[in-house]
Formats: sequence, structure tokens, C-alpha cells
Amino acid sequence: MLILVLNSGSSSVKYRLFDMTEDKCLAWGIVDRIGARGSVLTQERHDGHKVKLAGEIIDHQQAIEYILAILLSPNHGVVKDRSLIGAVGHRVVHGGEKFTGSTLITPEVMAQLHECIELAPLHNPANIKGIQACHSLMPNLPQVAVFDTAFHHKMPDYAYIYGLPYVLYKKYGVRRYGFHGTSHRYVADRAALMLNRPLNEIKLITCHLGNGCSMAAVDKGVSVDTTMGFTPTEGLLMGTRTGDLDPAALLHIISREEIGVGEANSLINKHSGLLGVSGASNDMREIESEVAANNPRALLALNIFCYRVKKYIGAYAAAMNGLDGVVFTGGIGENSVIVRQKSFEGLGFLGLEFDAELNAVKSKEERFIDRGSKARAMVIPTNEELVIARDTAELVGA
Ligand code: AMP
Repeated sequence: MLILVLNSGSSSVKYRLFDMTEDKCLAWGIVDRIGARGSVLTQERHDGHKVKLAGEIIDHQQAIEYILAILLSPNHGVVKDRSLIGAVGHRVVHGGEKFTGSTLITPEVMAQLHECIELAPLHNPANIKGIQACHSLMPNLPQVAVFDTAFHHKMPDYAYIYGLPYVLYKKYGVRRYGFHGTSHRYVADRAALMLNRPLNEIKLITCHLGNGCSMAAVDKGVSVDTTMGFTPTEGLLMGTRTGDLDPAALLHIISREEIGVGEANSLINKHSGLLGVSGASNDMREIESEVAANNPRALLALNIFCYRVKKYIGAYAAAMNGLDGVVFTGGIGENSVIVRQKSFEGLGFLGLEFDAELNAVKSKEERFIDRGSKARAMVIPTNEELVIARDTAELVGA
């Protein structure tokens, strides 16, 4: 069966088409700048064939029409007939407390997804638009929602409740939810295979370091804590997000700068993090170049970034009473030699003997970067779309 995986953002739709008989990705691409001038679809096929199409794409429905057309196109496509696509799997950012696992989309589920909008006003509406567009274009095709939050739903209450009046949790659902769950789940599964041990016997720390960054303490296959919270702003330093911040510091800034909620929101989510500290860039590659050129604020941003990763490794080893392995994934985790080096330095006391030479090897493969120590250090490229495709295939009974 072929499964189409969609990740619908506010102005883009990313997609992948999988052949589930061999877990193979046949084609992947993105429609960018939806609703703006210069919309463009770019696609790459498994045989390396690439195509780029510019056009007026006004909304998500039109974007998905373009995607289906290119997948079916005799010149650039990979499918002969639309009926060969058996289901669509959607990435949905926030499932609140209602969704503890992937789910087949029904009218009741749609109603509940709308209720979750309040928790993720920037992300869930776009995810819902993608689902609605598919429903209009292919009304009989089963659709599945796979949630970023679901993997963290077994966190204990003492890890997810904030020190706020409890009534606010009950009233507004203000608690820690965690995100990137699909990625944490995928790399934890792979790490167990690499370690050749059952997942339900090991203690892992998974570090998803990309534009957004989060870590999870995965104890016997269960996420027992994670760095992102009520929103994806909490925790590690990110490209443009603050990560952990004293809430009273934000109140102080709001009062001194006389800014409103909207500006405060963009301050902590769009102008902070690597970009805010360095003043140079939100992109780790550029931060590394600036560090090489002796830019002291870029070095400070890099140091804060790695210090927080290292600090949470220590915290999560304590949370789990032990550690069998740490996994790095995401654009930074998979590629940045210096970030891994600085984050792992000095962790010998946790039984983690990091190997600088193995760490420096450039590779796209899963690999160990330690000296065969008690706790292992691993790099594992993430594959969230494959998890979405597998969950979708399972739920539609393929
Ligand atoms: P992602 O959101 O997973 O695509 O990751 C994006 C982040 O990965 C950006 O900060 C990039 O600068 C970073 N990144 C990608 N490739 C490299 C690389 N070779 N070295 C350092 N950082 C990288």
C-alpha cells in the first residue's frame, strides 16, 4: 500500500509518499509560500529526479492538488493511479490530553482537534486545513492523525504540572505536554536496535536538535520527562526561541519596554535563542562560521546551547536513576561536530566516554561516537515521516 504523509504548516505543505511493502520513500517535496506571491513546489524522486514548479497556490487545498498532480504526472511522478494511494497520515502538533496515540480521523476526532486549537494556535489550524483539504479532494480515503505530543503522554504528573495554582491546569490545560514525540520515539526504537537490547529494559536520553530543540528522558520506552512544555518555547536554547526563562524576567521586559502580548510572544519565539544572543544568525552553520571568525557573541550563543544540552543530560540521568545511552538527532544533532563535542565533554562520571575522533567523522548513517563505554553516545538520523506512515498503515489495517 502507498501512504501519503503530509506535514501542513501555515504557509507550506511538506510531503512524502511511502511504499509500505518495503518502507521505501518514493518521492518527497514541499509546497512553499502558500497564499503568497511566488508559490513553488519542489520534489525529489527516489531515483534522484528533481522538479521545481512555480505557480499561484492560494490555499492548502490547491497545494495538495498540486502534490497529487505531480505524484501522478507521467514525467515526474511515481504513481500511475490515484487509487493506489491507500491512506494519508498527517502530522498534528498538539493532541492535548485527549490524544494519547495516533488515531483514525472521524467527524468526532475532527471536533476534538478543533478543541485543541486553543493549545497550539500557530500550528494546529494549518494541520486541520491539510486534513480538510484531503477530505474534500479524496472523501473516501482514510486519514490518520499522528501527534507530536502523544509520545510524552505517560509523563508522571510531577514532571508535567507547573508550580502554578492547580486550578489553572484544570481550567485552561496549562501543563507541560512536550513535542517532537514522533522523532524521540523513532530514535529511541533505533537506539535499542543499535544497543541490541529490548527498549523496555533501557534508559535513554534522546536529543532532537534542529531549528526547534528538545530532549526526552526515555525510561523503558516511556518518555518520563521532556524539555518542551506547554508550548515548544520551553527548555533548550533554539534558533529563535529562548528556551527556559524566568517568567518574571519576561514580565519585567513587558513593563519596561511597554510591549503587548503579541510583541512579547514574538520576542521569545522569533527574536531570541541563537539569533537573539549572537545577533548574527539563528542557523547553527552560520554560528559555527562566526565562532571560527572569533565572534564572541556567537561563541556565547554556542556555549549556552551546549551547556543546556549537557545540563539536561545530567538532569535526565538523575530522573531515570541511570543511563544506557544518549542519542543525537535533528539537523544540528546529526551534523554539528562541535555541538556534540561540547555537550558530551566531561560526562565520564556518568559512564559516557565520548570519542572525539569518531565524533568528527562526517556520515549520514547511524553510528556510535563513544569508546564502547558503559553509557553509549549515538548519532541517529531521525525519520518522523516513516513513523507517521507506519502508524497510518497500521490503523487502516494495511
Ligand atoms: P532541522 O530543523 O532538523 O532541519 O535542523 C536545522 C538546523 O540544523 C539549523 O540550525 C542548521 O544550521 C543545522 N545544521 C544543518 N546542517 C548542519 C551542519 N552540517 N553543521 C551544523 N549545523 C547544521
